[in-house]
Amino acid sequence: MSSQPTGPGPDSSGPTPYDASTLRPATVAVTSGRPPHEADSPLNTPITMASTYVAGGDVEYGRYGNPTWSAFEEALGDLEGGQALAFSSGLAAVATVLDLVGQGRTVVAPRHAYNGSVMQMADLESRGRIRALLVDITDTDAVVKACEDAALVWLESPTNPALEVADIATITAAAHEAGAYVVVDNTFATPLLQQPLSMDADLVVHSATKFIAGHSDVLLGALVTRDPELFDVLKKRRDMIGAVPGTFETWLALRGMRTLHVRMDRAQANAREIVRRLGEHPAVGEVRYPGFGAIISVVLAQGALAADLLTHKTRLWVHATSLGGVESTFERRRRWKSEPATIPDGLVRMSVGIEDVEDLWDDLATALDQLTGERPA
Ligand SMILES: *Cc1c(COP(=O)(O)O)cnc(C)c1O
Repeated sequence: MSSQPTGPGPDSSGPTPYDASTLRPATVAVTSGRPPHEADSPLNTPITMASTYVAGGDVEYGRYGNPTWSAFEEALGDLEGGQALAFSSGLAAVATVLDLVGQGRTVVAPRHAYNGSVMQMADLESRGRIRALLVDITDTDAVVKACEDAALVWLESPTNPALEVADIATITAAAHEAGAYVVVDNTFATPLLQQPLSMDADLVVHSATKFIAGHSDVLLGALVTRDPELFDVLKKRRDMIGAVPGTFETWLALRGMRTLHVRMDRAQANAREIVRRLGEHPAVGEVRYPGFGAIISVVLAQGALAADLLTHKTRLWVHATSLGGVESTFERRRRWKSEPATIPDGLVRMSVGIEDVEDLWDDLATALDQLTGERPA
């Protein structure tokens, strides 16, 4: 056909694919999990809608695998430096890990870990399945001591929403000494800011619902490990209980991951600027920010009522739970009955998006001013 450009045809041998471990994260985010560079091959992995496959292959049935999941898993695995497994939600991944804990064994976890994870542990404990030992994750000596008879050490750093940071390397070494597995919920930091597997953790958990997918439009979870035996155990369990993701959800999350580095750069820059300005506002009692990432927790000087007023007085900031989307959202965490009483009543968790920081600040400052009736010069 004359309308086709001239050049090497499909039989020309293409370049050898890159080894992702030699590439920088931004390049991995863009290039990993793509079909090979072959003539007329689509650039994006298609959405494969299939509940079953022609018999005789490696997959056989839709609960055991899907090419779209595989593409997502390859990209996330390359970013974390391990092998990834996609789940229907973050909490499905959490449940799958906790299910591996032996009868009556101890799980050490941050008292301020994501409340859905802590609720699962409390539920298992109430049924005599495990013992949950909740610790102050910033007190490394106490955590190391608690590891002594643990089967599993659960880390989340920074924690949601207290934003406490754990010494992952030290705690991991102590846990391994005691023969315990170490899991890190890396939802807040993302693999761009923290790679727990490189600090020797056994397993990374993600709520890919958050920054990984990044657009507040899917629920998705993932586990990542470098241990092939552990991977097999987890995959068997996921497939057995059917905690598998939707195909379209994994496709959307992979599409979102293509811009993870750009989104994180902008959201983090916005967050740092907002932290600086919040610290100078008289309505603000305390600003919690670990120095990286896009989540800020702010404690209103006048407590819960002021926090509730703030979340109802903005135009850009959306009053909503969840986090990690392109749009800025916030909520008073204690509006959830499940949030522990050690989280201040007037704490507002802010998920900073990628809008223009001046617009975000104007909106926030206007609402904060109404709480104090003044605005600092
Ligand atoms: C949201 C969240 C989860 C749970 O993930 P879902 O995708 O909502 O099931 C787990 N850990 C952290 C840190 C979270 O923020």
